[in-house]
Amino acid sequence: MSAPVVVLGATGSIGTQTLQVAESLGLEVAGLAARRPSQELAAIATRYPDASIAVSGGSSEERQEFLAAVGADVAFDTDSVVAMASTPGVIVVNGIVGAAGLRATVAALESGNTVALANKESLVAGGPVVKALNESGGTLIPVDSEHSALLQCLVGEEPETVSRLILTASGGPFRGWDRESLAAVTPDQALSHPTWEMGARITVDSATLFNKGLEIIEAHFLFEAAYDQIDVVVHPQSILHGAVEFVDGSWKGHLGWPDMKVPIQYALTFPGRESADVKRFSLTEAEMTFEPPDRENFPALDIAYAAGHEGGSSPAVLNAADEVAVEAFLAGRLGFLGIPEVVSGTLEIVDWRPIGTVDDVIDVDREARATASGLITGAC
Ligand code: MG
Repeated sequence: MSAPVVVLGATGSIGTQTLQVAESLGLEVAGLAARRPSQELAAIATRYPDASIAVSGGSSEERQEFLAAVGADVAFDTDSVVAMASTPGVIVVNGIVGAAGLRATVAALESGNTVALANKESLVAGGPVVKALNESGGTLIPVDSEHSALLQCLVGEEPETVSRLILTASGGPFRGWDRESLAAVTPDQALSHPTWEMGARITVDSATLFNKGLEIIEAHFLFEAAYDQIDVVVHPQSILHGAVEFVDGSWKGHLGWPDMKVPIQYALTFPGRESADVKRFSLTEAEMTFEPPDRENFPALDIAYAAGHEGGSSPAVLNAADEVAVEAFLAGRLGFLGIPEVVSGTLEIVDWRPIGTVDDVIDVDREARATASGLITGAC
């Protein structure tokens, strides 16, 4: 039976689905953490009276209200959220957005814990740091559906027999659109994803293809694949989640209806499997089409490949600049086509440097955010 679970980002899309999976597997929930002391978190906390609770943000008024609703001890600071990740002998499901997520991943791996990773920043921005720890400390299991698919194809195979990793992309809601139409895209249009239900940033990232760009970098660090071994193919139905080509020409792919509970459960039961109450897949009900990505109108992929090749600070700059640009887009301060422009502009301005520690990542992240904000203000 699996270890108790600590859920970081408990109110988010990954967090709430993790709690459903943990319940169906009968797993103990040892800790819950979130950024905001919301009523939603209070409701979750009361369902798990034995779990420790940590909250990193919120005003003192919100915190008082939260304490009254929970009626239990709550640690109110980022350090406690990070410390929760080093609870001995737990599986840490990291669904935290941003740099606190990286600190938690590092703390968990240093303690020898298994991390079910949904926090892309950990691998994209902190790839070199996390990778070094993964080799000496705990175990990193991807929750991202494409990477879970690749892991499931790679289990039992020798690394040197792998010739290519294939990441599928839905193409987002604007697949096939021309530049003129893309220029007029509104936040509401970008927030409606055709196949996956996700948080706001990742939904916009799916529309620009930056999400797939981040996933290329994630795959590079997770599976030690060279960038020219990682391909992206657009597959609008999101049924084939990932595939691997081997040196003998054989392919293995992972298929299923889009449902994040599948990769979440695989991460929690890895390397085993447990039965799950998911909609059973049927090939005869499935339509699957594939096409190459439109790299001209969606430059995010090439920007990400280039940042990946540069390595060092470049993936961290890309991640930070994209997050700032997406926020500005959602607030109506930047056009849709401005997102890749701000990201590549920021990559040009911020000086490249090697990354060795979490502090290096945080410094680069801060500088890239300031640069991206400056570019946006200047652009208006
Ligand atoms: Mg994904």
